[in-house]
Amino acid sequence: MQRLVWSIVLTVAQFVFVQNADAGKVDRLYVIDCGWAHAADQSLWSPGVNVGVPIDVSDNCYLIHHSDEGYLLWDTGITDRVAALPDGQFVQATRQTWHRAQTLMAELAALSVHTRDVRYVAISHIHPDHVGNVEEFPDATLVIQKAEWDYAMTLPQKPFSPEHKAQLVEGDRDLFADGSLTLLTTPGHTPGHQSLLVHLDKTGNVVLSGDVVHFETNWDARRVPGFNFDKAQSSASMEKIARVLNEKHAQLWINHDKPSSDARNHAPEFYE
Ligand SMILES: [Zn+2]
Repeated sequence: MQRLVWSIVLTVAQFVFVQNADAGKVDRLYVIDCGWAHAADQSLWSPGVNVGVPIDVSDNCYLIHHSDEGYLLWDTGITDRVAALPDGQFVQATRQTWHRAQTLMAELAALSVHTRDVRYVAISHIHPDHVGNVEEFPDATLVIQKAEWDYAMTLPQKPFSPEHKAQLVEGDRDLFADGSLTLLTTPGHTPGHQSLLVHLDKTGNVVLSGDVVHFETNWDARRVPGFNFDKAQSSASMEKIARVLNEKHAQLWINHDKPSSDARNHAPEFYE
């Protein structure tokens, strides 16, 4: 009898072990510098607060390696063309001048990653500092909320080719059905904005929040930029992220917050 019990225990243990060994996971996350900008007036992002005060903002791409699915790129930064402009590129709407120290292509090459190795390009939203290089990955599947895709297709100037192979997601989604990468719908900044919850064995859970919030100070005060698509949705999305951080004991990595972004390890270093 005792022998039978042990046999069952061992079988169950083996099953659990094999299950864990087989489950896909994110084993590397690289933070890649995808540009920075000098903005003349930070109150565009914080109505009535810090009026006329300039601010520098970071802009990162995140290259994520999944054990079964290969590489997924989260956001693609400002267009690589900016790297060739010594004085950067001025954007009137946000009174920002964008700069790029290096092209995304050069940064991927330095990691020995070819564009065809990137199987998925997932984007938070369609603003130019997030989708600037989508067309550098013509074979990748574009992972985007359907609401954001529909919004993009209404614009006279499309942010990427309407022919691009795309996976249109509606709502929250455990992308590879293994808990490693979870898309979170967080509309408000744009109609179909999304965030990404990443599970890493050593680092723990991290939320890449796109433009749900731009700066640490705006997060603390839950400020909504004046140019957001929907103010109430923006506030609700911040509360949703706050709930996820709490439930998952996750870190919030605010993409455009330069001080916290600068403090993070950038490629070729990585998080695991
Ligand atoms: Zn944006």
